[in-house]
Amino acid sequence: MFPVDTIDRMFKPLPSVPDHPALEREVLQRWEDERTFQRLREQNAGGPRFSFIDGPITANNPMGVHHAWGRTLKDVFQRYQAARGHDERYQNGFDCQGLWVEVEVEKELGLNSKREIEDYGIAEFAERCKERVARYVGVMTGQSKRLGQWMDWGNDYLTFSDTNIEYIWRFLKECHRRGWLYKGHRSTQWCPRCGTSLSQHEQAGEENYRELEHPSLYVRFPLTDRPGESLVIWTTTPWTLPANVAAAVKPDAEYGLRDGGWQLASEDGDYDNVVQGEDLVGLEYEGPFDGLPAQEGVTHRVIPWDAVALDEGTGIVHIAPGAGAEDFELSRVHGLPVLAPIDESGRFLPGYGPFEGVSTDGAAKAIVEALDERGLLVQAGTIVHRYPICWRCKTPLLFRVVDDWFISCDELRQPLLNANDEVAWTPPQYKKRMDDWLRNMGDWNISRKRYFGLPLPLYPCECGELNVIGSRAELEERASGGLEQLQELHRPWIDVIAIRCESCGEEVRRIPEVGDAWLDAGIVPMSTLGWENPEWIPHGYATGAARGLTGADLPDHAYWEQWFPADWVSESREQIRLWFYSISVMSMTLAGRLPYRAVLAYERVHDEHGREMHKSTGNAIEANEAFERMGADIVRWQFCAQNPSQNINFGYGPADEIKRRLLTFWNSVGFLVTYANIAEWTPEWGAEPRSGHPLDRWLVARTGQLVSEAEAAYERYWSPAVTTLFESYVEDLSNWYVRRSRRRFWDGEPAALETLWWSVIQALRVIGPVMPFLADHLWRTLVVEGPDSAHLAGWPEGVGGDEALLAEVAEVRRVVELGRQARAQSGIKLRQPLRRLVVQGADGVREHAHEIAEELSVKQVEFGSVEATELRVKPNLPVLGPKLGKELGGVRSALEAGDFEELDGGRLRVNGHELSPDEVLVERRGKEGWAVAGEDGLTVALDLQLDPELELEGRAREVIHQVNTMRKEAGLEITDRIVLTLPPDLLEHEGWIARETLAERVEPGGEVAIEKA
Ligand SMILES: [Zn+2]
Ligand SMILES: [Zn+2]
Repeated sequence: MFPVDTIDRMFKPLPSVPDHPALEREVLQRWEDERTFQRLREQNAGGPRFSFIDGPITANNPMGVHHAWGRTLKDVFQRYQAARGHDERYQNGFDCQGLWVEVEVEKELGLNSKREIEDYGIAEFAERCKERVARYVGVMTGQSKRLGQWMDWGNDYLTFSDTNIEYIWRFLKECHRRGWLYKGHRSTQWCPRCGTSLSQHEQAGEENYRELEHPSLYVRFPLTDRPGESLVIWTTTPWTLPANVAAAVKPDAEYGLRDGGWQLASEDGDYDNVVQGEDLVGLEYEGPFDGLPAQEGVTHRVIPWDAVALDEGTGIVHIAPGAGAEDFELSRVHGLPVLAPIDESGRFLPGYGPFEGVSTDGAAKAIVEALDERGLLVQAGTIVHRYPICWRCKTPLLFRVVDDWFISCDELRQPLLNANDEVAWTPPQYKKRMDDWLRNMGDWNISRKRYFGLPLPLYPCECGELNVIGSRAELEERASGGLEQLQELHRPWIDVIAIRCESCGEEVRRIPEVGDAWLDAGIVPMSTLGWENPEWIPHGYATGAARGLTGADLPDHAYWEQWFPADWVSESREQIRLWFYSISVMSMTLAGRLPYRAVLAYERVHDEHGREMHKSTGNAIEANEAFERMGADIVRWQFCAQNPSQNINFGYGPADEIKRRLLTFWNSVGFLVTYANIAEWTPEWGAEPRSGHPLDRWLVARTGQLVSEAEAAYERYWSPAVTTLFESYVEDLSNWYVRRSRRRFWDGEPAALETLWWSVIQALRVIGPVMPFLADHLWRTLVVEGPDSAHLAGWPEGVGGDEALLAEVAEVRRVVELGRQARAQSGIKLRQPLRRLVVQGADGVREHAHEIAEELSVKQVEFGSVEATELRVKPNLPVLGPKLGKELGGVRSALEAGDFEELDGGRLRVNGHELSPDEVLVERRGKEGWAVAGEDGLTVALDLQLDPELELEGRAREVIHQVNTMRKEAGLEITDRIVLTLPPDLLEHEGWIARETLAERVEPGGEVAIEKA
């Protein structure tokens, strides 16, 4: 044998610990240099299709780790499907317009209101929005690549492309054709900062509420015809009082009069008068701000309302239809006037006297003072309550009555519910969540009073006709001018263009509103796949604002037929009410079916202590930081190992734990590399393992089991099973196969090297989708000929597991495990050999007696009944006491004396009674000189008796251990030879000790000593 540093190493040695970020950068560079991903696509081109449609990520900020969960899962399952030979599309999507982008650009430019945007210039503002998108398309592409996500980067879809916009126009025209498009005049949640209404699906998330402190006021409304009597109302929104027109009572509730004020009667109350709510209905009262011009001509009266809350306030609700959703609905039922007190930015309009121009918050103090001055204020305090905030800018919301455009969803509801029934949801309980959303969804509010978004192609005419433009070509055809300046389908350029009314021929203009951003993302299954597009257009998707940012083609309809619907989509669970909803509505409308067959959804990312991550609290983790500090593979593993139906506690602590566990695998591969190099062993690509050695046959079977079980997990999109299966495989590989085979590796046995090499190679293919970098790094370390990347090697096909052999070895390991327990009880070290082990209840492992003996360091393994135990039985008093009564004492003494007979099924006969297993408490203990352990019908007993021969052998083993420690401490290489000095009594074991310690020569002496030979 040669010293290790002079041989020509077949495999590059592995360091003791992997440097994940460093090896990942190296692998990334190699993928780039060797065009690995392109070659994978070429390899699979024309194969069976696996269609994935990406939900767009907003190109607006750098990625946080929360984005990495979804992107990891998308990549994992796409990589797996590629390994199975599937042809895939890999098109990434960026969301590029709407409030997300606008609000960030406003911050960047220091703009604080819509007026400031208009002063800045809508065209300039649009350019800044596009610049920001372009910047973050670049940043996010880089970050996604760093995560290892294989997508067709550079050919992304960007939702602000004219092509995408035209597809939405076409959808809206179809909605109009079906009579679903209408203008609604209603009270809506309004963000005063963004100056727009917001829709149900945007605002529905729990994160869109905060605990906020607001005023809590009790206010008196004097009754007109009953001097000295007032209604007492409660409000937390003083700004709504100047718009009050009515007060609502619950008709069947009891109201009491005390100190001149009417309010809900409580049981213990002492009232001057008590009436039913209905008795108050119709009474007129003086409003709190009747002097304002806006209140002129308003008669305030009491109305009935069954939904009046009785658990807070006074049971009398002040109604301002211009400032609340339910109030507005009541105004329709009761014919109440609607006073709209505030403008877009939440400031009082003219007609509100001293409050004009003041914000809702700013007016609160003056309103309270005015009430107090006029003696109307009963009580003023504050309240902390759950209050909605803008999903985008976090400003507390108000209600305004405005005109918005809606798509009626009623006709779609049932078809969507029916179709959802056919979708395979993972986790399965999310199917019901989707059903719940579909059952409860209101009409889709599609209009936003903003700037940089989808221009709604709606041109209402005074003649009553609503003109809806369905394409750019139609716009050009019907335009009365202004086309020359139309650089793209965005404001302000599109606003210049007027068209001719279809019905009366008059010139009409577009409404100023832009569209809900979920229209942009929702059309993607049609727009990116070329639905009804007659001819394939190279780079045809890169239109309008997307020009220059992508090379994406616009495919033709035949392509759409092939790739629609997606076999699989994956986004976070909250996308049920957002993207899953919008793609469902739009595809159902245009194509009559859902755009996906299977969904994987996942929850939210928290920090490792389970708290929400926020930039402001300092516990958010940037994606780049995570990639560089823990490694992208570890980020991916963390997400893959998580049950997606629960929030993940993500962080560096869990990452360290994962690294520690993965080190076992790294060490096993390192072991292979070391001994293969020493033996100068060369792998043969494509050779099936052929060793007949039982351990080798077992590892091959165990590897086959990993492959088939992991395959089943990938097929059902369940990554936590993949990581669990891999970990348990690594445990078996390392703590059974490698440990039991050490000597064969020391001896350079080709069968062992071949088997381990082959098994590791298969394991790398299995785990490649989860940890693409580590898998490929080790692949390159081990594979000399054959595919140059784990990701080009495909899935290990036809690797069968030998069930019988696996079961047999599992049983052996159970026996060994119990044997270890027995040893641990006895306190005798494993290094001290023992004479024998008796095994009862595992006859199937007789052929493995030798392995069991070796594992437990016993000379002999016997199969038979364990008699080395003592059965100690006590009565189970709560059961047996009532049954035996006064005979219990006798039974107890007989049991204590061991005076009983064991029957089958665990029954006992004692003192003429037959006792069932639940009537006694049984404990089995080793008799003197034995250690016993057992479970589930398997019992082992270790004979603890020592003799001089065993003791000497025990000493010899101690010495081997000691010498090998000394070798390490002396800095010797694994292959270095030594001269060993041994005390004379150990010379009996000289040959064996020398072999185990690589001693060339043994010399007798007083103390154990070594010297390099
Ligand atoms: Zn806002
Ligand atoms: Zn007209």
